[in-house]
Amino acid sequence: MEPPTHTRLYIPGPVEVHPEVLAAMARPVMGHREKRFEVLYARVQEGLRRLLETRAPVYPLLASATGAMEMAIRNLVRRRVLCLSAGAFGERFHEVALANGKEAVLAAVEWGEPNTAEQVREALGGGGFDAVTVVHNETSTGVMSPLAEIARAVREHDDVLLLVDAVSSLGVVPTPLDAWGADLLLAGVQKGLGLPPGIALVAASERAHARARAVKDRGYYFDLAVHARYHERDQTPVTPSVSHLYALQVALDRIRREGLPARYARMESLAHRARAWGRERFALFAREGFESVSLTYYRNTRGVDVGALNAHLREHHRLIIGNGYGRLKDRTFRIAHMAETTLEDLDEVLSAIDGWLGV
Ligand SMILES: *Cc1c(COP(=O)(O)O)cnc(C)c1O
Repeated sequence: MEPPTHTRLYIPGPVEVHPEVLAAMARPVMGHREKRFEVLYARVQEGLRRLLETRAPVYPLLASATGAMEMAIRNLVRRRVLCLSAGAFGERFHEVALANGKEAVLAAVEWGEPNTAEQVREALGGGGFDAVTVVHNETSTGVMSPLAEIARAVREHDDVLLLVDAVSSLGVVPTPLDAWGADLLLAGVQKGLGLPPGIALVAASERAHARARAVKDRGYYFDLAVHARYHERDQTPVTPSVSHLYALQVALDRIRREGLPARYARMESLAHRARAWGRERFALFAREGFESVSLTYYRNTRGVDVGALNAHLREHHRLIIGNGYGRLKDRTFRIAHMAETTLEDLDEVLSAIDGWLGV
């Protein structure tokens, strides 16, 4: 095997980009009002709809995923929103809602625990909510919340829309927008899809488009109605990152060639391997049964110096893993295994850590 020529990323985003995808970013730029752009846009659309198991349009935004959160809030919340939270990104959705002048109620659980359908039923019981936000895979804690159950609980209320952050679950586990009955799904591309960071994706249901038309002050850049109008012609309202769309097309072609069931099975086996290794040497952070498939979060039960470990991995193995999030920085660490990661890649990471631990 060729020695790696760069530091490989096993942090929870951005993740490693496959050379074919990276090469697509270097193609000559085209004008976005050319006919061939529409052909590219339509192809990307087709791949995204297959991935999301939806008939809804999927809009590419020139923003990171947090911009897509802003789009979700500004278009779909008239007055009041319930924000489920199991960690830092759930909290961010709440902050985004407040910063956009909405009333936002935070329904948080302890870090390491998932959000639940019971939480939704209890909170929505009082009425008065326009929407619920939820993070499918909470990257800051390595927890996946049971989206199908949560969606069913939201769907018991006709006028309450469900806004899903699938930033680190899209491309890792099924995210069937229509089957969930969700109204908006947002994602970045630098996690489960394995692209360089730089665009975000927003899929929106018919109900979401209808709601948006009735919400005031949606702004312009992230207005769902504006995006929908251009989408009709396979175009974007503003200059898109053509380079990212080339890369996305290549990534989606790679997904189609691997096959979704095979891809999801690979992701599950990576997660099983990462957990089994962690249970033997450390302990897992997430509540059992709700561990993320995208990344594994370890409790640093050996009290190792994670900074020193990462410096060793960088210098001797040309790779890095993630430290803990925020206040958990030294007490935990994370290994991401999304996008194009193979079992061989993961084994290399784990045995490099074993070598450093001396086990
Ligand atoms: C990374 C991440 C975000 C924020 O994405 P940016 O691209 O940095 O804006 C939001 N939600 C989740 C779950 C994430 O993992």
